[in-house]
Amino acid sequence: MSGGFLLVLSGPSGSGKGTVSQAIMKENKEIIFSTSVTTRTPRPGEVNGENYFFVSKTKFEQMVEKDELLEHAFVHTNYYGTPKQFVFDQIEKGEIVLLEIDVQGALQIKKKYKEAVFIFLIPPTMEELRNRLVKRDTESEEEINTRFKNAFRELDFVGEYDYFVINDKVSQAVIDIENIIAAEKLRVKRHKDIKSEVLKEKEKI
Ligand code: 5GP
Repeated sequence: MSGGFLLVLSGPSGSGKGTVSQAIMKENKEIIFSTSVTTRTPRPGEVNGENYFFVSKTKFEQMVEKDELLEHAFVHTNYYGTPKQFVFDQIEKGEIVLLEIDVQGALQIKKKYKEAVFIFLIPPTMEELRNRLVKRDTESEEEINTRFKNAFRELDFVGEYDYFVINDKVSQAVIDIENIIAAEKLRVKRHKDIKSEVLKEKEKI
């Protein structure tokens, strides 16, 4: 095992996943963000290759057929997926890779990668969740309603995750996630050489 691992962050639309993961990336340069592929149209200000790789439905289907995605799902009204090769390359290098994906995708990853770490971000209240969706002003009323309904369903899956973080204050949510990362880095199973290094030291005494 190289020490690198997948950090899967899920939570309903409006839980603040985007804001929290951006803050984590800003303060922890060693964490690599996995840019997803989506068939959704870009929102104002979103940059291709940064926020997402924006592709056509045909291109997305080709990627699925060629087995280029680690997981993929139909979320709200569009397809989303995680490019496989990039993630494998980073893990191989010993990096921590952050995947900001929905519950369906997280469950697919859970089946395949036992060493991944799963965090579920919970908004402080349902009212706050709706406020955040409305304030974001990027979706139509119909889309907001779809996302709000889906949020109810997604919350049922918190039991599938290793950790939950309540996103009342972004700064506290970031600290909670950094603490999880710090603990996960110290997991014995991620460091197969610990024992032999200690033994080598011991031999010198
Ligand atoms: P949004 O359209 O607001 O950027 O994202 C909508 C939902 O799709 C969010 O819950 C987000 O976490 C999820 N999502 C983004 N990228 C991926 C991905 O690669 N795979 C899956 N399964 N979900 C994703």
